[in-house]
Amino acid sequence: MTKREQLYEGKAKKVFATDDPEFLIVSYKDDATAFNGLKKGTIIGKGVINNRMSNLLMQRLEKAGIPTHFIKELSDRETLVKKVSIVPLEVIVRNIAAGSFSKRYGVEEGFVFETPTIEFSYKNDELGDPLMDEYHAIAMKIATEEEIETIKKYAFGINEQLKAFWAECGVILVDFKLEFGRLMDGKIVLADEISPDTSRLWDSKTGEKLDKDRFRRDLGGVEDAYAEVMKRLTEHI
Ligand code: ADP
Ligand code: UDP
Repeated sequence: MTKREQLYEGKAKKVFATDDPEFLIVSYKDDATAFNGLKKGTIIGKGVINNRMSNLLMQRLEKAGIPTHFIKELSDRETLVKKVSIVPLEVIVRNIAAGSFSKRYGVEEGFVFETPTIEFSYKNDELGDPLMDEYHAIAMKIATEEEIETIKKYAFGINEQLKAFWAECGVILVDFKLEFGRLMDGKIVLADEISPDTSRLWDSKTGEKLDKDRFRRDLGGVEDAYAEVMKRLTEHI
């Protein structure tokens, strides 16, 4: 597969065309941003970890019956994926209160939910990714009712798979963000990435944060935290 022109450079990845119109190459960077791009920095080695971790988790999800964009890891930082038309919704699943949920509702971080929750944000940097009700998403033709149902079913299924897997690694899956897209034939698949950039991961014994919150909140030890979750994942996958 030949890499062609760069189509897009995002905050964490670059996207390249290939000689097949149905495939893309994504390239993971070490750049880190938070607070809608206001805070910028570098997490050395992050791109390599996120590429590998996302690919290993997506292959596991495929085996569990969840369709994903993953095709093949090409190198440390690069992966061949199926090109999708991204549904512009950030799909957030939570098992435990943290981050924006805690702030919005005044709930302490660490409050364990009776059942997992799901919410959508409209993927729009200019508007700051506002929360979006599913009826609003359907009204704005961002997704059909059927697509929203499929996305919810996949998102909760992914949560069950990932929660159980991370538990085996001694890690609590607090929350995470997913993106879905449509293949040429309209089929919905999981796209983008699953990594410590897009998930909250807490050590099961100590409660220590092993994810991007170390960067967001200037807690230090960012690189070590990413390396630690990657080590645990490779020992258990
Ligand atoms: P952002 O755009 O938020 O800065 P990234 O730096 O991660 O995020 O850029 C990757 C971009 O590629 C995102 O906009 C994401 O929605 C998009 N993307 C991820 N997977 C696919 C795919 N399989 N096909 C098309 N676009 C994708
Ligand atoms: N998240 C993400 N990208 C975003 C917003 C959130 O990957 O643009 C992830 C974040 O890492 C966390 C989960 O989604 O695992 C929930 O984030 P939250 O809504 O609490 O927002 P934050 O505290 O990051 O502002």
